[in-house]
Amino acid sequence: MILEESGLADWRKAGKISAVALDYGRKLIKKGALLIEVCNAVDAKIVELGARPSFPSQISLDHVAAHYCPEAGDRTILDVQVCKLDVGACVNGAMGDNAATVDLSGNYAELAAASEKALAAAIKVVKAGIALGEVGKVIQETIASYGFSPIRNLSGHGLGKFEIHTKPTVPNFDNGDKTQLQENEVIAIEPFATTGKGTIYESANAEVFMQASDRQTRDSEVRKVLERIRSYEKLPFAKRWLLKEFPAFKVSVALKILEQQGIIHGFPPLIEEAKGIVSQAEKTVLVKADGCEVLTEVTD
Ligand code: MN
Ligand code: MN
Repeated sequence: MILEESGLADWRKAGKISAVALDYGRKLIKKGALLIEVCNAVDAKIVELGARPSFPSQISLDHVAAHYCPEAGDRTILDVQVCKLDVGACVNGAMGDNAATVDLSGNYAELAAASEKALAAAIKVVKAGIALGEVGKVIQETIASYGFSPIRNLSGHGLGKFEIHTKPTVPNFDNGDKTQLQENEVIAIEPFATTGKGTIYESANAEVFMQASDRQTRDSEVRKVLERIRSYEKLPFAKRWLLKEFPAFKVSVALKILEQQGIIHGFPPLIEEAKGIVSQAEKTVLVKADGCEVLTEVTD
């Protein structure tokens, strides 16, 4: 999305809260912590800071690259995993999206550095007029210099008002895309580095969903659930959020029907094909004529 000058304050605020929440969350990632409690604490922090989650906070472990969102009874305990914490804040529709890797194993510092340095290198070259493929090339080369592979079928993206994923696609390798970044475009850059093959597949059992259509549904019970889903204003939501209000069987049935009808869309966990370990780093930036402004930055 090309940002209008008038909306800039909200985007900066959303970015800053996203970064503060990420910082807060990464400090909670420790051996013995319950994954779901960290996610809940980060979501609550975002609200406390005057925003709402752009999407449910997620912690994906080891060979799970992204989109692991705990279900209500999740008992996952953080121990010696490579944890990717992905969080974002939304302020009046302005969106932030950022992520970092916390290596609890102590064995993957280089892998974490690879995605972080690739992100830093990409931020250095991003400016209006650069081709998307060029950004991908910088990411790919940086990750390769550490001896790892970028994940080619995961990419950064544009952000729009109440839209977490929009054009353009910001590749993690040189995909030959000549499309140029434009001034005042808001994009998330998110390199993933892996010890594996460099591709992911979608697993089953999504815990994150998003309203995809304004259509109504016929069944009155399903409608009640859809009513709540509509209150999320097309931001991704966690299945467990609905369980505070509706019985579990009702939620499961409603989500299944709504997904079949194309009214909602699920985001299942994304798994590295060779079960390689994955690291991720992500920031949201505003493209400028001669560089970019990192929006997801802790500033005072
Ligand atoms: Mn993200
Ligand atoms: Mn993203």
